[in-house]
Amino acid sequence: SKQSGRDQATYFNEEIGAIDKERRLIEADIRRGIAQNEFILHYQPRVHLPNGQTVSVEALVRWEHPDRGLIMPDNFIPICEETGMIEDLGKIVLDIGCKQALAWANAGIDMGVSINISPRQFQGTQLMDALKAFTKTPGFPRHKIELEITENVLFGDHNKIAEKLQEIVEMGYRIAIDDFGTGYSNLSYISRFPLNCIKIDKSFVSQLPESGPIIQLILTLAKQVGATAVAEGVETQAEYDWLLAEGCTQVQGYYFSKPVPLLRLQTSFDASAIK
Ligand code: C2E
Ligand code: CA
Ligand code: CA
Ligand code: CA
Repeated sequence: SKQSGRDQATYFNEEIGAIDKERRLIEADIRRGIAQNEFILHYQPRVHLPNGQTVSVEALVRWEHPDRGLIMPDNFIPICEETGMIEDLGKIVLDIGCKQALAWANAGIDMGVSINISPRQFQGTQLMDALKAFTKTPGFPRHKIELEITENVLFGDHNKIAEKLQEIVEMGYRIAIDDFGTGYSNLSYISRFPLNCIKIDKSFVSQLPESGPIIQLILTLAKQVGATAVAEGVETQAEYDWLLAEGCTQVQGYYFSKPVPLLRLQTSFDASAIK
C-alpha cells in the first residue's frame, strides 16, 4: 500500500541518517584520538632468508582506543584517507617511525624502517616538508627509511609523480612498491620510476605453488630494474622453502613474526631453527 511505501521511505531515511551520524561520530573520535596521541606503531620484521637476520621492520599503525581496545588500520585508514585526516595521521606515523630509526642508528643498530604512505598523503605537502626536515637532524639515517607506496599512488600525471619520487630518492630515502601486482596494470612505471624495492603481494604467496610462475616473473623483473624483491605474508614452511629455493632473499610474514609492539620485537631468527 501507499502507506507502507511511505513508512519504508521514512525508515530508509532514518537508517541513512543513523549511518551518517555513526560515521560523523567515528570521524570525530579519530580526530580526538589523533589529538590525544592514541595512535601507536607495531613493527613486523623483514627477514633476510639465508641467515635469518632482521634487516628492517615495517611500521604498521594501530589505534589504542581508551574504550574499544586495540583497533586495526583497516577500520580507520580508509576513513582518514577519505576525509584527509590521513595527512595528520601519516605525519604522526612518520615521526614515530623516523625517531625509532634514529634511536637505532644512535645505538649502533643497523635496522631499516618501512613506512606506509597513502595516496592522499603522497599528494599532500606535509610529507615532503617532514622528509626534508628530518634530513636536517644530525645522524639521521635517511637511507634506512623506506616509503611503501601502492600502485594506486602512481595514478595521475606521471611526470609529476616521477619528479616527486626522484626528489625523495635524492634526499636519500628509499621507495618500495607495496602489494605489487594487485593494482595498476600498466607496468611501464617499473622502469620509469626510481624504485628500490618491490613487495610481492601476500595473495601470490598464499596461492603457491600455483602462483609460482608469477612470483618467478616478479623476481626476474625486480632483478632487471635493480630492486630488492620482498615476499609478504609468508605463513608456512612450504612457502618459505619455495621462496628460498627461488632465490627470494627477503621475506615478511606470520611464519617469522606478527607485527608486535617495539618491546616484543625479536631482531633475529635462527633460520636453521625454523623448520
Ligand atoms: P600492508 O601495508 O599490505 O601491510 C601488511 C598487512 O598484512 C598488515 O596488516 C600485516 O599485519 C598483515 N600481515 C603480515 N604478515 C602476514 C601474514 O603472514 N599473513 C597475513 N594474512 N597477513 C599478514 P595490518 O597491520 O592490519 O595493516 C593493513 C593495511 O593497513 C596495510 O596493508 C596498509 O595498507 C594499511 N596501513 C597500516 N599501517 C599504515 C600506516 O601507518 N599508514 C598507512 N597509510 N596505511 C597503513
Ligand atoms: Ca605495506
Ligand atoms: Ca602489502
Ligand atoms: Ca598460505
